[in-house]
Order: sequence, then C-alpha cells, then structure tokens
Amino acid sequence: MNGSVSVRDRLWQHIAAIRMIDTHEHIPSESSACQSHTSLFSFFEHYVSSDLVSAGMPRESLEAMRKPDSGLSLEERWAILEPYWPFARTTGYGRAMLEYIADLYGVVDINRDTYLDLCQRIKAAHKPGWYRHVLKEKAGIDLSLVITWPRQSVVVDQEFFRAVPILDHYAIVSTRAELEALEKESGYAIQTLPQLMEAQEAALDRFAGQGIAGVKIFLAYRRTLLFERAPQSAAARVFDRVWLSQTQDLAFEDLKPLQDFMTRRLIGLAAERGLPIQIHTGLQEGNGNYIENSRPTLLSNLFMEFSDARFDVFHAGYPYSGEVAVLSKMFPNVYADLCWIHAVSPLAATRILGEWLEVIPSNKIFAAGGDSNYVEGAYEHCKIARRVAHEVLSQKVEGGYLSEEEARWLADRILRENAASLFRLG
Ligand SMILES: [Zn+2]
Repeated sequence: MNGSVSVRDRLWQHIAAIRMIDTHEHIPSESSACQSHTSLFSFFEHYVSSDLVSAGMPRESLEAMRKPDSGLSLEERWAILEPYWPFARTTGYGRAMLEYIADLYGVVDINRDTYLDLCQRIKAAHKPGWYRHVLKEKAGIDLSLVITWPRQSVVVDQEFFRAVPILDHYAIVSTRAELEALEKESGYAIQTLPQLMEAQEAALDRFAGQGIAGVKIFLAYRRTLLFERAPQSAAARVFDRVWLSQTQDLAFEDLKPLQDFMTRRLIGLAAERGLPIQIHTGLQEGNGNYIENSRPTLLSNLFMEFSDARFDVFHAGYPYSGEVAVLSKMFPNVYADLCWIHAVSPLAATRILGEWLEVIPSNKIFAAGGDSNYVEGAYEHCKIARRVAHEVLSQKVEGGYLSEEEARWLADRILRENAASLFRLG
C-alpha cells in the first residue's frame, strides 16, 4: 500500500469525526425555515443568486423567481432560471448547491427533469427535526454562531446556536426618523449624543445578559473600514445635525465622525465585557459594491489602539487574504477566519489555509465557518471546510512540513478548539 494514501486515509478518519464549531451563519429558527423554504427556488438567496445576476439575469426576474408570494408557478420559476443556471452551476456557489441538494435531498442534478421532484422533497423535509438531522447528524457541527439583525431577538435555540448581534445601526443613524426608530427599539430617549451612547451600551448589556458570543460589525457593506479617532465634541455636532435632519441630506463625509466615534465606542464596550468582535472584510455578498472599502489593513489603527479587544476578521478578507495573514501574525488580538470562502472557491480556501498555517500562530486560525441563510448551506460550507483542511494538512504531511500527529492536532484547533476558546463555548 502506498504510504501517502494511508496518511490521507488516517487524517480523513480523524477530520471526519471532529465536531465542528462554525464561526458564522445567518440561520433563522427552524420554525421560520419550515415556513420559508418550501421549494428549490427559496434557496436562490445567499449566493447562487448573485452569480445568476452577474451572469445577466435581471434583478426583477430573480425576485419574481424566488419570492414565494410572487404568484408564479414552479414551471414559470424554472423558465426564469433555466437560461442562466448553466453559467452559475460551475462556480463555487453552484457546485456547493448541487452538492447539498444531492447529499440532503437525494437528487443528483438540478435540471428541467428534476426540479419538480426536488421541490416536493424540499417541502416534505422541512418539518421539526430537520435542523438536528442536518446540523448535528449530517454536518457534524456542534454549534454555529449566528448573526442577529437589529430588532431581532438574540435568544436563539441553544442546542444549535449562539447569537452575535449587529449593533451598527447605533453608529449609522442619518435622520431624525432613524433616531426615533432607535428610541422605540431601545426604550431610551435619544435626543443627544450621550443618550445615544447610553442606549447602545444598554442594548449591549441586555444582549450580554442573554448569552451572546460576540458582536458583529457589518459596515464594510456601506462604508470604508477606516474608523478614525473622532472627539466626542465632533461626534456631538454631527448628532445634532442628524437630529435636525428630516431627509437623508447628510453625506458620508458629514456623518463619518459620528460613525467612527460610535463604532470605536462599541469596540471598547465589547472589549470591556470580554466579547470578541467579528468584522466583515473582503468580498461583499450581492452585486455591486466597493471592494476597496473592505480591505483588512484599513483596520490597523483599531488593532493597535484597542489592544484589549479581540478581532475575528471574516472571510479571509478575500481577495486580500495576505493582509489578514500579516495582520494576524503581527497583532496578538487579531484572528483569521476563512468563513464563507469555502463556497466562494474551494481552491482559494485551500491556497489560503496552506499559507496561513505557515504565517499565523495556529491558535488564531478559524477554518470551519460558513455564512448561510439556511442549514443546507451551513452543512455544505462545513463539508468543504473538512475537505480543505484535509487536503492542506495531507499536503503538509506528505511534503514533510508537519508530522502526522501535528496535522491531527492542527485539525482539532482550526475546526473546533480555537473557536471554542475565543468564544468561550466550553
Ligand atoms: Zn454573513
């Protein structure tokens, strides 16, 4: 028997048995997924959808195809999808979808002969117990950290999830109406900057009392990740303009001191409470954005100034994965997270993980995160993550860089233990 094959086999046995901790998902409760995911077309959000639009599908057609209440029959939905599907099915997103459909629904292709049967199977599967089957039994995931949006409860099903809320909306207010909405949400009067600060801190404390695992900063979708020092007086002047603003007439440059001040404050508050900060960097989901806003190196000043905070830098900063590598190498408070990149490109994930293991101390690499709105996607991300870890570690053992024992130990660290430790998941 060939020695290198047996190394791979032994490593696979070990990696396949690891109960993963998945650092990032957007999965709703099981009961709401049972309502919303009733056909194949409900899965055209979070990610293949973006490739369909990139391939030329008009956005209105996408909405009509995927919205359950658009009034279209399944046949009409397929007619919208069919011309574009051949171009999206070969990307990482398309491959991921084909694989989870085959594994979880037993249908080996998505085409005009299979889609009706598939829709029926999807509808039939979505009943209580589906999450346990997919996440625990099929995916081998112990826990997933799930993002919660503003006004969404952080009380999540503890069997599967821990919440990581987004509190960005306290930083990006731009009109009186938005402040009034925040007043309603928080129960605090918000007519001055100190009141806004108090409301944000109270929200964080309430969430901390409800067992959140960290906080999320999502702002790279809307602005640059450069958060400069802004004195409270400058932020207060912006606040007063926002309070007087009936329409969205303030430009980003006008609002930036308030946004910077409030975001930096949130980071300080999270650090004081021992809560890690997950930050979106790199590729923005969807179509059309400024990728340069999301460069990880824009965060360097925060990493330096908030040495007590711990930053989980998301999505390998793709395509700036080298920036994440050097930042995580230089700063003790910076962690490198591959979440989502497994489905963007398994090849990129393999290349990046191979490099990271040589550059970054091994306690600061997370290689098991997904980024999905549904458990099928979480299953698939984690399946690819196992494959990627196996490939990278096998290559390093075969090439003499690691011993087999070191490779097994690293697999435990990057697929489970590092996340368990940073997020205190026991
Ligand atoms: Zn996400």
